[in-house]
Amino acid sequence: MAERSLRGMSIGAKSLESDENVDFAARNDVAYICPKGHRTILPFADGAEVPDEWECRCGAVAHREGEDTEANEIAKPTRTHWDMLLERRSEDELKALLEKRLQMHRDGWIPDYE
Ligand SMILES: [Zn+2]
Repeated sequence: MAERSLRGMSIGAKSLESDENVDFAARNDVAYICPKGHRTILPFADGAEVPDEWECRCGAVAHREGEDTEANEIAKPTRTHWDMLLERRSEDELKALLEKRLQMHRDGWIPDYE
């Protein structure tokens, strides 16, 4: 019993540590790709001016990774489900739909799966 709780604390402490690293490092990782395919990731301080080009370790000029990359997708997500919804419905329509739906929940028409 004592051993198990000790192990749990150890895991908790480790994950807390890695969370702190993410939270407190105010920086942006910017990826550069050189013509030879080398990928260089540079940490820039938050708010720092990020150059479009960087000299690769092989000496070639690496360019900042383009729009269709994984890194950029995380920074600015492409169309979300919500965006697609808004293209078809106005916000007022959605509010009305939501209200209708919520009322159905309140009336017990739709079971709650939570
Ligand atoms: Zn290179």
